Amino acid sequence: MQDFSFPAPPTAPDTAELRAEVRAFLAAELAGYPAAKRIRSWSGFDAEFSRKLGQRGWIGMAWPKQYGGHERSALERYVVLEELLAAGAPVAAHWIADRQSGPLLLKVGTEEQKRSILPRIAAGEFFFCIGMSEPDSGSDLAAVRTRAVPVEGGWRVNGTKLWTTYAHHAHAMILYCRTGAADDRHGGTSQFLVDLTLPGITIRPIADLSGARHFNEVVFEDVLLPHSALIGQEGDGWNQVMSELAYERSGPERFMSTFVLFVELVRALGSQMTPDAAGALGRLGVHLVVLRRLSRSVAGMLQDGRNPALQASVVKDLGALVEQEIPEIARQLMAMEPDLRSHDALSAVLGYSILNAPAFSLRGGTREILRGIIARGLGLR
Ligand SMILES: Cc1cc2nc3c(=O)[nH]c(=O)nc-3n(C[C@H](O)[C@H](O)[C@H](O)COP(=O)(O)OP(=O)(O)OC[C@H]3O[C@@H](n4cnc5c(N)ncnc54)[C@H](O)[C@@H]3O)c2cc1C
Repeated sequence: MQDFSFPAPPTAPDTAELRAEVRAFLAAELAGYPAAKRIRSWSGFDAEFSRKLGQRGWIGMAWPKQYGGHERSALERYVVLEELLAAGAPVAAHWIADRQSGPLLLKVGTEEQKRSILPRIAAGEFFFCIGMSEPDSGSDLAAVRTRAVPVEGGWRVNGTKLWTTYAHHAHAMILYCRTGAADDRHGGTSQFLVDLTLPGITIRPIADLSGARHFNEVVFEDVLLPHSALIGQEGDGWNQVMSELAYERSGPERFMSTFVLFVELVRALGSQMTPDAAGALGRLGVHLVVLRRLSRSVAGMLQDGRNPALQASVVKDLGALVEQEIPEIARQLMAMEPDLRSHDALSAVLGYSILNAPAFSLRGGTREILRGIIARGLGLR
């Protein structure tokens, strides 16, 4: 059994001042920003907003200054993240780059990759997408079939990536693909830094349940990548992608996707709060507090250079349950029609949440896969 504990989150210098600064910024920037948009939060794309966060020093916060970072602590970064999510700020443009692409490059990228890319991410001007899933390879990531073949001048890539969030707006993708034998499931894979403007790349939108177009199919046809595009070691893609997933699975976005609905619900119930409603909301509130504690603990482990894949899976699994439960409880407590397009804030927020909640336990690793990881980590399989 792996070490299974959630150590106390790291302590940091008093973060009250930073929190107040972020809140004041958000109150000014998002004045009049409707709840129907706030509920999108980390799915809401606004390049200009990300650029403003970059100017404030709130992207790449914990990275070294030599790469455009600000050498703040993981906990200070956490304060900014949770305030952005609580306010429902549109942070999707830079979120993936700040959360996982940048940290991956920092960890295993070449000096050239770090110097050319990280400062632009931190400035809120360079956005990434995740190229892991494929038509026949989602949960079973080691079955990827997109292949990069070494050729003169670099690598030639062919294959298809699927469900690629905001590929149509991103500048680059971190591509996970096969470079070795098909039967070398783990050892035969690598990661590449892909400039999405290269010839041979076609990006096609896919509509989700609500009709929104945030994810895509990305087709590679004889795309030529330079040698310098390889990230880390050839053949080490599996280990790299697994440590990337720990960043992807443990942040506050994994339990705050419907936080704006929770706030709207409390507001709508207001003075008419019944004991049953107070009990239900109180229970949700306690879950959120516990998840916050676990997620901050994982942030501390990542800061210490550990790979808390097991703990991150626990946070994501429990977090998705709570995120999905909030719309269910809202439906029980409020006699109203959920409607994405309603002018009533609660109805619109509830409509959005109901249509998007099923994806919470799919994206970033499905519930079954996470529970498999947890069971293995606990020595149960
Ligand atoms: C909103 C959203 C955004 C996404 N964004 C991205 C992105 O930006 N980049 C990216 O690469 N991917 C992205 N994905 C894809 C996501 O990672 C996959 O959907 C997910 O990993 C599941 O893969 P799949 O869809 O192929 O389903 P499958 O792997 O085919 O799974 C189908 C079902 O079978 C179950 N199952 C599969 N294997 C097992 C097993 N061994 N044991 C038990 N049950 C099993 C699964 O839990 C699931 O319920 C996104 C998905 C969503 C919903």
